[in-house]
Amino acid sequence: MVETEPCGKVVHYSSVKAEPVSPDMATATRIRWLIGPSDEPPLFYMRMFEVDPGGHINAHFHPWEHEIYVLEGSGRVRIGGRIHEVRAGYVVFIPPNVEHEYWAGDEGLRFLCMIPKEPTAEKRDEPIRC
Ligand code: MN
Repeated sequence: MVETEPCGKVVHYSSVKAEPVSPDMATATRIRWLIGPSDEPPLFYMRMFEVDPGGHINAHFHPWEHEIYVLEGSGRVRIGGRIHEVRAGYVVFIPPNVEHEYWAGDEGLRFLCMIPKEPTAEKRDEPIRC
């Protein structure tokens, strides 16, 4: 990992370590913290998710949004009560506290996912229905 630099950071994504996402959260999924805590950005983190064919990210919700761009492959995303088919080029916005989950298609699914560093909504026991 690159040390925090006052003049920023420029790297190829492949130089950022792909870490397995814990099995209680996902199957066959890795995450790269392209811009993460060690970079000490003021507001946002940028992560890249790589979900192998047949992989799944379990249903969950949290008091911050996801801003997603699908780079490669295809799959399905559930946001609240709706399931959306996505593929490379699709943009996905998941509002805070809405339950979501992901399934990779036959080619796998690779996407960028931006999150704020701090929660932006009240923490809830139950997700917002939509
Ligand atoms: Mn999430």
